[in-house]
Amino acid sequence: MEQEGRVDHLHNIIKKLLVKLEKSLTIVTRVTSLFKSPFLRVTKELLQKASSRLVMLISHKTKAGKYPMSSYEIPQEAGQQEAGNSPDILVVGGGPAGSTISALLAEHGYDVVLLEKSHHPRFHIGESLLPLNLPLFERLGVEKQVASIGILKYGAEFVSPDHDNSSHFDFGRALDKSFPHAYEVRRSELDEILFKNAIAKGARTHEGCRVTGTEFPGGARAVVTSQNEDGQITQWHPRFVVDASGRDTLLANQFGIKQRNKKHASAAIYGHFEGAERRIGKEEGNITLFWFEHGWFWYIPLADGSVSVGAVCWPYYMKSRKVDKEQFFFDTIALCPPLAERLQAAKLASPVTATGNFSYASSRSSGSNYLMLGDAFAFIDPVFSSGVLLAMNSAFAGAEAIDVCLRNPAEASRALKKFDRTSRHGLRTFSWIIYRMTTPVMRNLFMQPSNKFRLQETLLSVLAGDLFGNTPVQSRLMLFKIIYYLQSIFMFKESYRAWLRRKRTIKEVVGEMTAP
Ligand SMILES: Cc1cc2nc3c(=O)[nH]c(=O)nc-3n(C[C@H](O)[C@H](O)[C@H](O)COP(=O)(O)OP(=O)(O)OC[C@H]3O[C@@H](n4cnc5c(N)ncnc54)[C@H](O)[C@@H]3O)c2cc1C
Repeated sequence: MEQEGRVDHLHNIIKKLLVKLEKSLTIVTRVTSLFKSPFLRVTKELLQKASSRLVMLISHKTKAGKYPMSSYEIPQEAGQQEAGNSPDILVVGGGPAGSTISALLAEHGYDVVLLEKSHHPRFHIGESLLPLNLPLFERLGVEKQVASIGILKYGAEFVSPDHDNSSHFDFGRALDKSFPHAYEVRRSELDEILFKNAIAKGARTHEGCRVTGTEFPGGARAVVTSQNEDGQITQWHPRFVVDASGRDTLLANQFGIKQRNKKHASAAIYGHFEGAERRIGKEEGNITLFWFEHGWFWYIPLADGSVSVGAVCWPYYMKSRKVDKEQFFFDTIALCPPLAERLQAAKLASPVTATGNFSYASSRSSGSNYLMLGDAFAFIDPVFSSGVLLAMNSAFAGAEAIDVCLRNPAEASRALKKFDRTSRHGLRTFSWIIYRMTTPVMRNLFMQPSNKFRLQETLLSVLAGDLFGNTPVQSRLMLFKIIYYLQSIFMFKESYRAWLRRKRTIKEVVGEMTAP
């Protein structure tokens, strides 16, 4: 008995030491993330790896049932339920958001189940990434794999029918010069890499497995029902549910909290071409955006020589379609001569796909034992290629919040609020520019960029996705906004006309949406 008591005492000391060590490592990694010098970044990554290894070691002991890592934090729950159908976390959807959070939490020692309704590799639109995606790939340990499937994207080119010139933005000239490029990728390949990484980190994954319903009985584990392709139905009882179901917006639909964006509306039609004209040298992988009467086009060169082309238009234009999708796509391309010229010798190499109005948000991002990531929470517009970055960034923030919720429930509400702020911050920053993209002043700022007051660098930093953590962008963006409003006063007539047109178009869309 006396010996058992001494062993227990020793166990308690070890547990306390491990917790202290983990906390110190977290603080050190947070402090180093305040700086962006390459040396500190490397140090931070080494510390992060060391931290997660340590946590894994502790939690392996947990799985062996000897020293449950979280038993001293939430004794009533942790370690009481075995794996099988009662994981710590159940993630719905294996896109960038779902696979990222699964990898992070599994690496942290949690039992994670990830359910994906389709099979990787599967097609997904959204091929242009941002420079600030790269540090996230590094933290997941997949940067080399992503580099091997992508083509380097050093910047963006904008072409407008109202300007004689095209304008070029180089990420290397942003406020922070340390992220000079991103990649264009096939999403089937990127999403498969991220999904496999979740498996490698220890997540239990099921493909061809659709989540059909969720229940959240107060004070008890959630009940999640899934169905396999062979019709087999399974019930899961996780401690925490993550909705990463993308535009299917599983939980937001179930709770009735999905709201159409009243300030924005757009729809898209797209396809892939072979034999299209490509830039040479460093510019080969750059994205081009062509404005035209009813919206804008993306032109994204991919590593295999093909090009992804899509038109993002006001819904009224999409509704005017009287011919089949393919013909409508070609007719729309013909409305934009500089794009049609680049596609002169090209052949369509995929089916043409159309998507309806996709601008929406959920009124809340989390509850006591669930949260929503990426497109499952909100989506605005693809114009700045921000979707994958925002989805992955919300997964990093979500993993941190869930870790707090499960280990220290007293801090859960604070952690979920912080998660909500992070999720909304990126969306809000991009929205401000997106809502004003059609105004003459914003068009000029893009087409005749001046670096007075470091305006161009600021815009470039936003385009690079440098919005999170300790970045100078927020204060600079304030100045950018002031200059925008001042110029709008000088161009009052044109600005007012553009505002009126936009308001009328959105009113039509919102009116249709609310019509019985
Ligand atoms: C026209 C268009 C162009 C775009 N272009 C870009 C771009 O160039 N760059 C960019 O960064 N972003 C772009 N985006 C946005 C980008 O595609 C998304 O923001 C991104 O894919 C979001 O990732 P996610 O993980 O949240 O969702 P998704 O990538 O959609 O992943 C969700 C996953 O959940 C699965 N799923 C859904 N429901 C269930 C269920 N019930 N059970 C199990 N699994 C389920 C789906 O099969 C899917 O694999 C574009 C979007 C559109 C509409």
